[in-house]
Amino acid sequence: TTYTHNFDTTAYKGSVTINTGLYIDGKWVDPIDGGDKIEVVDPASGKLICAVAGGTSKDVDVAVAAAQQAFKTTWGLKVPGSERGKLLLKVAELMEKHQDELAALEALNAGKGYMTAKMGDIAPTIRTFRYYAGWADKIHGKTIETNENKMAYTRHEPWGVVGAIVPWNFPLSMASWKLAPALACGNTVVLKPSEITPLSALLLFDIINQAGFPPGVVNLVNGFGSTVGAAIAAHPKIAKVAFTGSTLTGRRIMKAAADSNLKAVTLELGGKSPTIIFDDADLEQAIKWASFGIFFNMGQVCVAGSRIYVQEGIYDKFLTGFSQAAEFLTKATGNPFEPTTKHGPQVSQTQFERVMGYIESGKAEGARVHMGGERHGEEGYFIKPTVFVDAKPGMKIMQEEIFGPVCSIVKFKTEEEVTEWANDTTYGLAANILTENSSRAIRMAHNLEAGSVFVNSALTMDIGVPFGGYKQSGIGREAGEYALDTYTQVKAVHINI
Ligand code: NAD
Repeated sequence: TTYTHNFDTTAYKGSVTINTGLYIDGKWVDPIDGGDKIEVVDPASGKLICAVAGGTSKDVDVAVAAAQQAFKTTWGLKVPGSERGKLLLKVAELMEKHQDELAALEALNAGKGYMTAKMGDIAPTIRTFRYYAGWADKIHGKTIETNENKMAYTRHEPWGVVGAIVPWNFPLSMASWKLAPALACGNTVVLKPSEITPLSALLLFDIINQAGFPPGVVNLVNGFGSTVGAAIAAHPKIAKVAFTGSTLTGRRIMKAAADSNLKAVTLELGGKSPTIIFDDADLEQAIKWASFGIFFNMGQVCVAGSRIYVQEGIYDKFLTGFSQAAEFLTKATGNPFEPTTKHGPQVSQTQFERVMGYIESGKAEGARVHMGGERHGEEGYFIKPTVFVDAKPGMKIMQEEIFGPVCSIVKFKTEEEVTEWANDTTYGLAANILTENSSRAIRMAHNLEAGSVFVNSALTMDIGVPFGGYKQSGIGREAGEYALDTYTQVKAVHINI
């Protein structure tokens, strides 16, 4: 079954056709027993776009069996790394050819600006496939001389079948962060996108199909978290699960992994990242990065800088400038396909309600809404960029991940004080520091409990640089050379000469 969407928008005109089934063992198939239908909604209007197939645990079983068979016969170390790399490059090339369609589907389904989707999601996804294509033939072990008559060598062997479960905020790039390194290392994969944003992955799998992977190497099972996601996490034949999503779900996945076959896990989870602005920062840059850091993608970014700490000497000027930046975004709120739009809807009704709930909790706990704090427009899931002041450390809005365009601005006096506040959270994903004092920047970077620290910037992700969380923001590292370690296991071979 296919679905064709006709786009007649300012940013993109044309029709895009996707298969709406599951992609298992090199073919598009319908779910066994009819599966669980997924209704896909346009968050800018709240209207139904189409329905796509969602699988159940039975479909996961079939996909895993196909992936296992492929791992044993046509993939893994049976295929030279250069061949695996060639197929990944082919995916990148084909994605480039279809980048406009991919961006259009992402903008439609996730509510992000068309150009933002193209530059911020599709372009980095293409780069991710290229980057790991380059690694595929450069994965090797070491020899270790243990004594005169003995030596050992190491092999970096793929795990086998990898289950990949991804969220809705950057649907394709999150999928590529798992698919590309897993495949480069020789694993086979069963991917489950978010049930909220299944569309772009369906087009990606047409591309994967065209690229010519042996059947069973890459499989797509759309479906709900409680069924397909849970079945992947608990599957006894999946050797490793790679997850990006909320800390709550991460905890469940780790439990299921432990209780089934003790499979390996990497978890990329939530965050509550601080943005720290010192008196000596370049004010204009500080406003730009702090605003981008929280409002990009409507705050639906795991590294969003939702707690903004500003030193007392610059506080008033910063608040004025930051409010102007938020006001600009409020005025530029609208349809993701209008080139003038800079702020779109939250991804779903559930997320809309969740974020509005946090705004209410902030007010109830005594923080003051300085700007925004309400719905924008009548249809769709738009929320105005929201700025709280007078927030206190223990409040929910200062502790929990909101995942929306909501931040709190807090005044601080000393470096010691702000370091303590910044670290006062169960999360540890990222931190942004704005200062012209390089010694302070380095000292702060070392003292903050975060997997990534951005100095005089925010959200500057690159696939070549490792990424992951401290504390309850995750386990393991993705991206860069480090991902190769998480998609292989090391075997030591001892030889008596
Ligand atoms: P989520 O945890 O609700 O869902 C993520 C995925 O897990 C979805 O595919 C969902 O269907 C699946 N899932 C849900 N319940 C499951 C279960 N019991 N077993 C297995 N799978 C299950 O998260 P979300 O709302 O889609 O995404 C937002 C969250 O993702 C935020 O917390 C955000 O911080 C996090 N995130 C983290 C990173 C990172 O790299 N650290 C990147 C992007 C998003």
